[in-house]
Amino acid sequence: MPNALTWLFLAALLAATATRLWLAGRQIRHVQAHRAAVPPSFAETIPLAAHQKAADYTAAKTRFGVVNTLVDAALILAFTLGGGVQWLSDLWGNVGSRWFEIGSLSHGTALLLSLFFIQGAISLPLALYRTFVIESRFGFNRMTLALFFADLAKQVAVALVLGVPLLLAVLWLMARMGEHWWLYVWALVTAFSIGLQLIIPPFILPLFNKFTPITEGELARRIDELLRRCGFKSSGLYKMDGSKRSSHGNAFFTGFGATKRIVLFDTLVERLQPQEVEAVLAHELGHYKLHHIVKMLALGAAMTFAGLWVLGQLIEEPWFYAGLGVSATSTAAALALFMLVGPEFTFLLHPLMTHYSRKNEFEADAYAKGHAQSRDLVQALVKLYRDNASTLTPDPLHSAFYDSHPPAALRIARLESK
Ligand SMILES: [Zn+2]
Repeated sequence: MPNALTWLFLAALLAATATRLWLAGRQIRHVQAHRAAVPPSFAETIPLAAHQKAADYTAAKTRFGVVNTLVDAALILAFTLGGGVQWLSDLWGNVGSRWFEIGSLSHGTALLLSLFFIQGAISLPLALYRTFVIESRFGFNRMTLALFFADLAKQVAVALVLGVPLLLAVLWLMARMGEHWWLYVWALVTAFSIGLQLIIPPFILPLFNKFTPITEGELARRIDELLRRCGFKSSGLYKMDGSKRSSHGNAFFTGFGATKRIVLFDTLVERLQPQEVEAVLAHELGHYKLHHIVKMLALGAAMTFAGLWVLGQLIEEPWFYAGLGVSATSTAAALALFMLVGPEFTFLLHPLMTHYSRKNEFEADAYAKGHAQSRDLVQALVKLYRDNASTLTPDPLHSAFYDSHPPAALRIARLESK
């Protein structure tokens, strides 16, 4: 039964989808308009061929994003007003066993898992296309089909092992904890996401990659020095075989407290000079020292709190279900609708989040400037932009919406200033 929420939801979905498409169009036009010449400040460091490859790669990825946007919008509509969630609820409710009565834990878990499964199955061809057509065309993909499906099988297994108990616990709390259920669920989800940070490095990442300690050579020596200068303790420096999947390079930290590890992609170690890796690492250390990681976790927890509070207000309201195409009310259906519809209502807040993230990036750059040579970081950034075919000329509005990192030219200008 359409009601005011139906129209509000349609307006939000339309606004978010139209904005995504409009930004994609702007990005493609902007990058193509600047394709003919390397921006003056990079004229000496980035060859024209690399600049044009970055433009074509950006345009290809953005066009693919348009397909994703349309598929997502169609899926959301099909699951809500199209009756998909209701259909799944009926499907499991009609199994006939009293185990699957609507409102039971098993019914709720089955409903949500089948929803995730359908979403995953529909996005699978898109993921295959991205990896084996787009990434391959630009020479980045190193994955075989066998590795792709082995990864997928492991990802599904990990998601089930971790996700099913979480889902059961969430649905149980929603059913048993009265009107303040959302507070308990928030505490559980927050504890779960912190726990995840602790178990990902030692137990999950090794399922996908090999980690080799770097203990000798100039790189190990330089990084040791850097860590001492910054007063940073870690449980090791590792090289990861990222090259078995992609030739994109990266560096990251994992873990908390004493279990912190520094991980460098082998592709990064091969292409950058030791002093450049040191500067990149100084930037990453900056994120830690300036508490960006903890702040992001706290921000995530605050947003989960707000989201669950809103759901707590809606879950007893018949118009919430009716307005979104569901007639059989249950906590699992409410959760499903909320996860499907929520992002469309918050999409226009994206620029706030990315603005905060870019502020952190500038701060980490400033930290790196103080603890390593900014000239080395500039050189590393130029190489990373060139080798990853990242565009130097993004559309400013597209960038404000989506980019977690400031445009290259701005970062480098700040690094080079006094
Ligand atoms: Zn950063």
